[in-house]
Amino acid sequence: MASTKVKALVIGGRDFKEKDKLVELFTLEQGKLTVSMKGVRGEKAKMKFAKEVFCFGEYVLENTKGMNIVSQVEIIDNFFGLTSDIDKFYEASAIVDIVRKTLGVQANPQLFIETIKALKCLCYDNVKSLYVIDKFLINIFKAMGYSFLTSTCSSCSAKLGDIRYFNLGVGEIVCPSCKNGTCISISPACFSAMKILDQTDYEKLSTIRLAPSSEVEVYHLLEKNFEWRTGERFISALIS
Ligand SMILES: [Zn+2]
Repeated sequence: MASTKVKALVIGGRDFKEKDKLVELFTLEQGKLTVSMKGVRGEKAKMKFAKEVFCFGEYVLENTKGMNIVSQVEIIDNFFGLTSDIDKFYEASAIVDIVRKTLGVQANPQLFIETIKALKCLCYDNVKSLYVIDKFLINIFKAMGYSFLTSTCSSCSAKLGDIRYFNLGVGEIVCPSCKNGTCISISPACFSAMKILDQTDYEKLSTIRLAPSSEVEVYHLLEKNFEWRTGERFISALIS
């Protein structure tokens, strides 16, 4: 029997048989993997915490008949704080949903590290609501090759003034002359909020304050951009 150890974050799962669970792992080494955890829904199961979404640890897998069965787990962090604060829980759940919808079949160490950093920041730092998911999305778009926080129009290269439009069709920012039907206007406050989020590391996110008017605008813009870039919608980070 071949056994492998992977660093992984639980991003989903479903009940299977009487007490088993098929768990969806985002692993550092192999990307997305569905693994079987036997008996973990039992009251006294040793690995019962390791099956829950947000659990981050080292999972030992035994490959039997093409199926990966978890034989041992060493939990690094289960980000317990995320489940005791409803706002953080929604935001973290949205981040995990974005990961599920972004992740291809291959390993993606950059996204893995980004996700752990985001969850850590959300769980342990006193960060204002939506700042973590906004930064996470900006970085996701950057990893996809979109750098939209530029000072010039992406279409004609003219220097941008205070009137900017986000062209959802191409995922970039344009000037008033290049505006077309897939453009939405973005306020100067929204643009500068995204720049600040982009330039601030996760470790420092708790020290910044953005213009209140821009907070929800940034989130909705990034949410919409995600839909246009991927054709997918992620679950809302907002309670209502
Ligand atoms: Zn232009």
